[in-house]
Amino acid sequence: MPALSEVLAALDALWPPERAEGWDAVGTVCGDLDAEVGRVLFAVDPVQEVVDEAVRLGADLLVTHHPLYLRGTTTVAASTFKGKVVHTLIKHDIALHVAHTNADTADPGVSDALAGALDLRILRPLVPDPSDPAGRRGLGRICELPHPMTLAELTAYAAARLPATAQGIRAAGDPDREIRTLAVSGGSGDSLFDDVRAAGVDAFLTADLRHHPASEATQHSPLALLDAAHWATEWPWCEQAAAQLDAVSDRHGWGLRTHVSRTVTDPWTAHAASAPLTSPLDHSHTTGAPR
Ligand SMILES: [Zn+2]
Repeated sequence: MPALSEVLAALDALWPPERAEGWDAVGTVCGDLDAEVGRVLFAVDPVQEVVDEAVRLGADLLVTHHPLYLRGTTTVAASTFKGKVVHTLIKHDIALHVAHTNADTADPGVSDALAGALDLRILRPLVPDPSDPAGRRGLGRICELPHPMTLAELTAYAAARLPATAQGIRAAGDPDREIRTLAVSGGSGDSLFDDVRAAGVDAFLTADLRHHPASEATQHSPLALLDAAHWATEWPWCEQAAAQLDAVSDRHGWGLRTHVSRTVTDPWTAHAASAPLTSPLDHSHTTGAPR
């Protein structure tokens, strides 16, 4: 079995930590570098539910996309929820390693996995990394759909292909508009509207879209928007990452067992569609009537 230090070197080769954003907190949160690693669990969020899953599984290493501590801390007391995560990990000899923005921009990265889950043909990065002469690394991906779809059809298609969440998929724009090209970006994507408009695509699929940026983006252009649950846009990366580590393990004869957490850690747990829309005029006629 490989030592943790050897597995971490392999992970750092896949997602070099120096390629993370300056504000990010990637790398190893806890773990004994000399400990042996036999079983690895991949997940989006380092929350207690996922750590408990790692304990049940007998994992030696948990690799997550989101950092546990992004802004630093002065306590890991088990009375805090993040402190309890640290205590549980250390008590059970489980290391925690984070690949966040360094995995976003990697080749393959988070948005390649998202595009793969949607069976899209990837054309190029949405925001290319200027330090990559091959032009394959960068944030988001510009893609072609397997066949043209209306926005309504694409919304249902994405909802069926991405892992299920309470939120599902929301769309903005004319539901009958035909979509051929789509930009995708795993995680919060509303800072990328300028790049999406410049790319000239028909639609943009991402997460965490807010009223004003979404409203402005759809008012001033025919761009359609699809808003998925943040967790659902990043979960496909876990499967991709596990397969990448499997390939490394096979090359070295490590015999690692890799697992992907299927625990839905999107914080939103319920969703109700509104009653069918009625016009304000209809509504004025029925005010006070039983519904
Ligand atoms: Zn994220």
